[in-house]
Amino acid sequence: MANHQVSIKKIGVYTSGGDAPGMNAAIRAIVRVGASIGIETLGIYNGYVGLLENKIQSLQIRDVANIIQRGGTILKTGRSLDFHKLEIRKAAAQILRFHGIDGLICIGGDGSFRGAHALWMEHQIPIVGIPGTIDNDIFGTDLTIGFDTAVNTALSAIDRIRDTADSHDRVFIVEVMGRNSGFIACHVGLAGGAEDIFTPDINATVEKSIERIKDSIKKGKRSSILITAEGQKPGRAYDLAESIRKKSGIDAKVCILGHIQRGGSPTAVDRVLASRLGSAAVDTLTKGFCDIMIGTEGPNLIQVPLELATTKEKRSPIELVQLSQILAI
Ligand code: ADP
Repeated sequence: MANHQVSIKKIGVYTSGGDAPGMNAAIRAIVRVGASIGIETLGIYNGYVGLLENKIQSLQIRDVANIIQRGGTILKTGRSLDFHKLEIRKAAAQILRFHGIDGLICIGGDGSFRGAHALWMEHQIPIVGIPGTIDNDIFGTDLTIGFDTAVNTALSAIDRIRDTADSHDRVFIVEVMGRNSGFIACHVGLAGGAEDIFTPDINATVEKSIERIKDSIKKGKRSSILITAEGQKPGRAYDLAESIRKKSGIDAKVCILGHIQRGGSPTAVDRVLASRLGSAAVDTLTKGFCDIMIGTEGPNLIQVPLELATTKEKRSPIELVQLSQILAI
């Protein structure tokens, strides 16, 4: 964690990397909490791409009306390869200074936070991060904005798939998002009554899964649902289905949920979380702290150094996989 000596009068806010439902609720909170203590908020559009293109506009309290229930991000988002370059970040710092921005709030994932940390280290621009990603893969926080919504979206799809699986006595493999993280898979798997859950960082074997399916058939169960995280290579569910077919002759159907998990109206959990994080980020900046992410630990908000949040790995909750297997007998 770092301290800054700047009296914050103007905050810049941007969303970066993958969009997540609830980002708008965080933007709304930042603008309105800021306004309540005399701080102006400037919206930076399209993440680091828009910052470099000077796409920056003042946000008034009415500009963030009617967005708390909307998925996506009104500020748009973006990915910039250029931002990895030292001289490009120097140009970005000059643009921020030109606008009189004395503090930044970055809503995004660990990649976005690496860029934010670099801006503080290299140009002493005070920055606070808000974790916004459906993957919930950021170290140091129990929850990220968008995770709860994505889990509920995937779950409602799985409930429908279960109807078909049950009617046809079928095995279904459902692939959910999460990149290298298995958080969505583990939560959706347990909540959806899955027989097994595959994630990139938990060593589940196809053989064990087949045994479990065969055992459940013996016990009178006619349909099964397996959940897999996408991993680095979306489409992994097809490889899994092929492997199950080769090893057991069982013909598993595949359903890849894909981007529907990203969109949609944020759940109450995400709206409340985003509003609290947005408010705390403004508070933190104005109290002179920066280079930190605001995270959650149980019901509490906590401050986590950005460097920790970007360098440490958050492991998937293996205990949920084990419980799911026990419960799916
Ligand atoms: P997320 O924030 O969701 O993890 P990305 O990993 O795509 O998404 O990162 C978003 C953007 O953050 C990248 O397009 C890039 O502009 C910036 N970024 C990522 N890593 C770094 C880095 N090491 N240094 C500077 N900028 C970075």
